[in-house]
Amino acid sequence: MLFDSHAHLLDPKFDEDRQHIIAGLPARGVGYVAEIGCCIDTSIRAAALAKEHHIIWAVVGVHPHDAKTWDGHSESQLRALAKEDKVVAIGEIGLDYHYDFSPRDVQADVFERQMQLAQDLQLPVVIHSREATADTLDVLRRFPQVGGIMHSFSGSVETMELLVKMGYYISFNGSVTFKNAKKPVEVAAHVPLERMLVETDCPYMTPVPFRGKRNDPGYVGLVAQKIADIRGVDAEEIEAATTRNAGAAYGIEVK
Ligand SMILES: [Zn+2]
Repeated sequence: MLFDSHAHLLDPKFDEDRQHIIAGLPARGVGYVAEIGCCIDTSIRAAALAKEHHIIWAVVGVHPHDAKTWDGHSESQLRALAKEDKVVAIGEIGLDYHYDFSPRDVQADVFERQMQLAQDLQLPVVIHSREATADTLDVLRRFPQVGGIMHSFSGSVETMELLVKMGYYISFNGSVTFKNAKKPVEVAAHVPLERMLVETDCPYMTPVPFRGKRNDPGYVGLVAQKIADIRGVDAEEIEAATTRNAGAAYGIEVK
């Protein structure tokens, strides 16, 4: 069974048919989904969704876009959430200099606080980094005891190699299937098999041939298939490796 290591099923785009989509996933080959919180509210709801569905686990944290919403209660709220059943990581956290929806100094502060939290709680992290590679690496280096997942990785082979050395897993999504994809394809060809993950980042980043439509975890197999094609191996090999790796990254027992 496939493991979608990064989904946002709580997005309003799933309000009409969320339960139906989730119920249909095992038949589409998806046995595991990590639902990723972006703010305190979606983190609370992610933890609740994971309790409702045996194939879902929750990741809780404040996204760099939402860093400006961090307040005096956020840390204790995340600490409490992290103790709940099926909450497996802190994320998604990091830096986004493409949109700059929160001021950069605020993004940095909120990112570091959550790295510290992950270190205290001995949990892995899920990192979002866009046009902020150097600053992201600086922060990660300051927390050498923390490991986790670099989600929707779009960097170079060199950066991937640095991250792998630092103990991170590299997660690929639909962008690897896009016609203009160059860097993700190169990285997918070179990343060690035992460090690669697949994700949808749904409802966005829909893989070809469904690009432009709403994405959902049932399409994660298209990402695995594309990586298999790039590496010239069977899709089953990528499926087995990415599920095993995601289980290891999140500390979830997988079959
Ligand atoms: Zn995401």
